[in-house]
Amino acid sequence: MEHIPKTIFELYVNEGLGTFKIADNLNNQGYRSKNGSLWCRETVNQVLRNPAYIGNVVHGKRRNMLQREYEDDGKMTKRKIQLKTAKEEWNVVENAHEPLIDHAVFYKAQQILLARGHKRAPRRAYHPLTGILFCGKCKEGMVCQKRSYKGKEYRYYICKTYHKYGRNSCDQANVNADEIEEAVLSLIRIKLLNIPSETFTIRIAIEKELGRLEEELKTLKSKIQKLTKDQVALFQQRELFTEEVYTQEMLAKKQQIQVASVESEQLTRKIENRRVHQK
Ligand SMILES: [Zn+2]
Repeated sequence: MEHIPKTIFELYVNEGLGTFKIADNLNNQGYRSKNGSLWCRETVNQVLRNPAYIGNVVHGKRRNMLQREYEDDGKMTKRKIQLKTAKEEWNVVENAHEPLIDHAVFYKAQQILLARGHKRAPRRAYHPLTGILFCGKCKEGMVCQKRSYKGKEYRYYICKTYHKYGRNSCDQANVNADEIEEAVLSLIRIKLLNIPSETFTIRIAIEKELGRLEEELKTLKSKIQKLTKDQVALFQQRELFTEEVYTQEMLAKKQQIQVASVESEQLTRKIENRRVHQK
């Protein structure tokens, strides 16, 4: 397979083909990339940018680092992570091995890459159906792209397989974004009209009830807090009372706290139950 990188450089530099066409070419001839998948823009790009083809070996593209993490209880742990380093930090060993591609060809390719870089793939557009819309032919997702034509901008949903690997891999036609979005929207409207309105009413009622219960729980919890504070205050001022009064008062507070705690537990369980039903 050594001849594939050579072919890629040849097609790119001498034949003037773009990365998309080159990928299509290789796929049509039955070649697959290193990991056995079809060639695409990115994998062709990777080959064109790889300095190993002119015999250079790059070290230090990644750096190990310890990252501190804090858990909920304030405990600190350290985790090993790998960071990509800046190009300036790389350590390049030139002519570490026999070059496969001629230096001049390689640098010519870098020039073309740079020149083409800023007018690469069309910009991504606002795309509400991405992740929802799938190609009926190959089952891959459809991605949205903007294309300008005679000064006007159009949005299209395009099959990912076609976008990556070309027409031979999937011949799904591009779909006008405005049209399909409008079609999906009107389908949703019809579906919504067919849902009995009681479903909504019940949901809203449950939500209201939940809100009320949560409010109740909040009140109860602040009541417990206040009672506990009273208890402390009472204890600190115990010399001001007769022993009998002090004991009675303390007992009363203790009982009130117990009652409120039981109520709070019941309420919490009730809320959890409602939440489960809501789902
Ligand atoms: Zn497709």
